[in-house]
Amino acid sequence: MFFAVQNPNLSEGGDSAPLLRTAELQQISSVGKCKPSAGWLVASEDRAPLHDFTLFFTTWRDMKPTGKVLCALGVVAVLLAFFWKDRFNPESLSGARVLLTGASAGIGEQMAYHYARFGAEIVLTARREAVLQKVVEKCLMLGAKKVFYIPADMSSPLEPEKVVQFAVQKLGGLDYLVLNHIGTTRFQMWDGDVEYTRLLMQVNFFSYVALATAALPTLEQNKGSLVVVSSLTGKIPTPFTTSYSATKFALDGFFSSLRHEFMMQKRKISITLCILGLIDTDSALENTRGKVHLTPSPAPEAALAIIQGAATRMQEVFYPWWLQYVCYLWVLTPYDRDWVLQSCYNYSP
Ligand code: NAP
Repeated sequence: MFFAVQNPNLSEGGDSAPLLRTAELQQISSVGKCKPSAGWLVASEDRAPLHDFTLFFTTWRDMKPTGKVLCALGVVAVLLAFFWKDRFNPESLSGARVLLTGASAGIGEQMAYHYARFGAEIVLTARREAVLQKVVEKCLMLGAKKVFYIPADMSSPLEPEKVVQFAVQKLGGLDYLVLNHIGTTRFQMWDGDVEYTRLLMQVNFFSYVALATAALPTLEQNKGSLVVVSSLTGKIPTPFTTSYSATKFALDGFFSSLRHEFMMQKRKISITLCILGLIDTDSALENTRGKVHLTPSPAPEAALAIIQGAATRMQEVFYPWWLQYVCYLWVLTPYDRDWVLQSCYNYSP
């Protein structure tokens, strides 16, 4: 085996000012059994490591600054390419059977279009039938193999099982259950409305548990994936989101615990929890208008990040990606963090 260190000052013709003069090269050659070739110093492996290091150090030391920058960038690029392999294979979604909730608007609607482009077979659900029909039409135009819809209100405890049965009957089984819907969100100071919290728990949490439970047998049979759309407010408590935040924390607690159990039981169902920041859906923009100093991210990108994370069976997806570091920082800085967070909100008592 040989390794090579590029010497930018040795060119093919050898007529550019040589960085290592001939005498130096001969010296290195004789000590370290190196032989100079055009533009490269080639060294055999039977030299002592110290000589390899000396050769590398000499070349690096004498390299021009631009050469050093290019070399460093090259090393970074190689490392990035190695560690950031894109494991997502779009073809894996061709013919995949997907049940998607909250599909009539926002991120759910965008996920429906992505799944359609990838050639998936989809069942869409939400409450508004007329809007679902329009999403179905667009999905068919975009290339979905099959699309069905079922109107359902997840505030009713009977609906989740009905929806899963419908999807399994139409598609012959499920590979993905994507839980995304949410009830109407109030972005305001807590007003003491316990009944609203109870309702939101039903729509945002209990219906997720019921849908997942009904779909487990078919997902397990197909080594499928359970996808739970959550929020940064399900990792970090934020103002104006008391009940909503509680439902998202509940999702993390339940589904992260369930993931442990599946792993311990060696069951082949993956659970992907998606932690999203502010996304530019109509409902979110309307809720937060004038109340936050935050820039929303695009819904189609958020939708794609969820789908890719689910397809590669990731445990958690953060979108935008840097939210992961926000969560680390939150844990690492228990003091003085509240005022930083509160400064993102527009409120004067
Ligand atoms: P959205 O635009 O408000 O859409 C909500 C969806 O849920 C709609 O399809 C709605 O359709 C459906 N829905 C509402 N009430 C329902 C009910 N009782 N039963 C069944 N379906 C119901 O929401 P989004 O902004 O796209 O958010 C999607 C997901 O991303 C949510 O889980 C949310 O927590 C998460 N997220 C969003 C943001 C953001 O900034 N947008 C940030 C973090 C996390 P119908 O009205 O037709 O029923």
